Amino acid sequence: MGKGTADESYLNEFEKKIIKFCKEIIDFTVNFLKLEKELKKNFLETWGKIGKTRWAGAGRGAGKLQRDNLHTRGQGAKNPLSNRNFRWTPLVIAKNLPPWAKEVKEIKYEEIEIKIEKGRGKKKKEETKKVKAFVYIVEKDNKYMEIKPGKEVYNLPLNEPPYCITQAQFNNFWDNLDDSKKEEIKNFTDLDWTINATMIPAYEYSYWTFSIESFLVCLLSVASTLYYKNNKISDLKASIVEKWEKFLEENEEHIPVIKNNENKKEKQVSLTTLSSISIEELQLCPLCKTLLTQFPAGLEKENRPENWSASSFPWKTSKKKEGEKESIQLLHIKPLIETEIRHSPDNVRYGHRWCNVAMADASLEYTLDFFEHVLKNNNRC
Ligand SMILES: [Zn+2]
Repeated sequence: MGKGTADESYLNEFEKKIIKFCKEIIDFTVNFLKLEKELKKNFLETWGKIGKTRWAGAGRGAGKLQRDNLHTRGQGAKNPLSNRNFRWTPLVIAKNLPPWAKEVKEIKYEEIEIKIEKGRGKKKKEETKKVKAFVYIVEKDNKYMEIKPGKEVYNLPLNEPPYCITQAQFNNFWDNLDDSKKEEIKNFTDLDWTINATMIPAYEYSYWTFSIESFLVCLLSVASTLYYKNNKISDLKASIVEKWEKFLEENEEHIPVIKNNENKKEKQVSLTTLSSISIEELQLCPLCKTLLTQFPAGLEKENRPENWSASSFPWKTSKKKEGEKESIQLLHIKPLIETEIRHSPDNVRYGHRWCNVAMADASLEYTLDFFEHVLKNNNRC
């Protein structure tokens, strides 16, 4: 067992609403597409499955749409980062304080009491346990308050900027820690780390509004290509936009409000993006501009003999489907950085795996410059 995520099955009341909304959208889409039994099963298992968990790893009750758009990627290793969490988790760590976040005032290390749920159903019991944990001091409404990892972080309001720990702060905290405490932390078990695994990397942070809208963008991408069957996709899009507008209206108090460059308060909703992106654009891979149902760049699928590769018994030669050039992956047109929130509907697209790998975490523009040079130097243009 590796490190997990603190209170991974805990969702606050609003997060429950978010998950319910995503589920409703998926059900609506399935009905709209009128998928046959097998195709419906395939769509739900691969893309549309909605899980009520912060962790939502593969095979744990969430399809690709939820994992890609609502959750951060897995973070193992011995550190207080969640091994997957919601992208709107309001505690982030960054090299430098991003302009969209508030600084954590202090980090402490102490013994705390936490409640752990044991058993399932009627046998579920809450047990209090003493654990060693990182505690964060933040300023809220002109008061200092202590936040323990897990639920206390997840219950912070989502309409305010998230809190951030900088690398310098963390290093400073570590340098000032007694040797005995350092030794204690060095000997943390996976469970000790899981209890503390609350924060997410700042570059993966996204407002819940951006995350859901990215989810909707990617859903339309998949629905209009892999599962498309002469339905009027523009009608599906119009209905989704309408439902999303209604959800935003009903949950206005949770919409993040951030001061812009002119110090004016601005709501962080990007609804205009979803309605302004054309279905035609979402059907194409953003790099090779070929339909997602086609092989990358419209090439013929290569017919290369497979090589034997060592694996544990029984030996297999079959490759994982996820690793195929034409499989579909989440792609950011501009790479994720700390200073700007880029997991947003205008920057998130589904593309071919080959194209995503070719971008090597560079921007789309920079990748095109690279290919232009490659082609010129090979007298191909
Ligand atoms: Zn492509």
